[in-house]
Amino acid sequence: MDKFIIRFWGVRGSYPVPGQRTVRYGGNTSCIELQLGTQTIILDAGTGIINLGADLVRRTRAAGEKSISAVILFSHMHHDHTQGFPFFEPAYIGTNTLHIFGPKVFENDLQHTLAQAMLPPSFPISLDELASLKNMHNLTDTDVVLIGQNTSDIHIHNRYRDNVALSPEHIHIHTYHSYAHPKNGVHIYRVSWGGKSIVYATDTEGYIETDQRLISFAQDADVLIHDSQYLLEDYADPNKPKQGWGHSTPEMACAVAQASNVQRLILFHHDPNYDDETIEAMERNARDIFPETHAAYEGLELHI
Ligand SMILES: [Zn+2]
Ligand SMILES: [Zn+2]
Repeated sequence: MDKFIIRFWGVRGSYPVPGQRTVRYGGNTSCIELQLGTQTIILDAGTGIINLGADLVRRTRAAGEKSISAVILFSHMHHDHTQGFPFFEPAYIGTNTLHIFGPKVFENDLQHTLAQAMLPPSFPISLDELASLKNMHNLTDTDVVLIGQNTSDIHIHNRYRDNVALSPEHIHIHTYHSYAHPKNGVHIYRVSWGGKSIVYATDTEGYIETDQRLISFAQDADVLIHDSQYLLEDYADPNKPKQGWGHSTPEMACAVAQASNVQRLILFHHDPNYDDETIEAMERNARDIFPETHAAYEGLELHI
């Protein structure tokens, strides 16, 4: 079986920060690519998705293939997770197919909130005008998405009513909605394939005694990608506390990694105010708690 490949295209939270201070870890906002056999799964569409889109077009041409099929999973619809989508080149090519999944926001369908994110006068092209075929679905905690190696083999099942026993050849996507992010929470995803799994827990804040729902959801995962936006001293700064802002510290991320027995922890959604040295120090300190910790950087590629 092919490797489970994870590529990081945008690792920053809140807003993009190109420049000399962020050369090592990168300045683009959240976007991760998963390559699982023939399938491409994209986690969030921050500005990192722009370079990914150009690369997918280049790779497809180089392979002599005519079209791209990709799955996009939105954690939530905050700007730093959607702002790259209007510049995602594959969306403009009529032969391409995008299967887009994400949460409902305040009773609004995913299609509605994504359309809002690129509506005139904010952006000159509307979602309807993008030529690719777009299959859009709201996802809830009861859904399991099953994906085969054939691009059209994508189905949503009910985890309680349908028989969705884990088969190693199918990709399984599980989700649950966390309320640890203002104002409408965030979807946490677990993507499993070939006996391996990764958990994507961005834009989430730790709890006292650790996030028990997340611990059980992430149990024994190979890779946990966890929000670690703030240094502890900034999170708990008495003059300008960040508590309740919906983001974690590396200590909170390490606590989840330890309790859920994951193999590797990736610190993600770096604060735009932190320079390369600060993030490097966060990684070093986190390793004292959980040795298999890495701070995500643009270009990081993991094969599991
Ligand atoms: Zn964010
Ligand atoms: Zn957010």
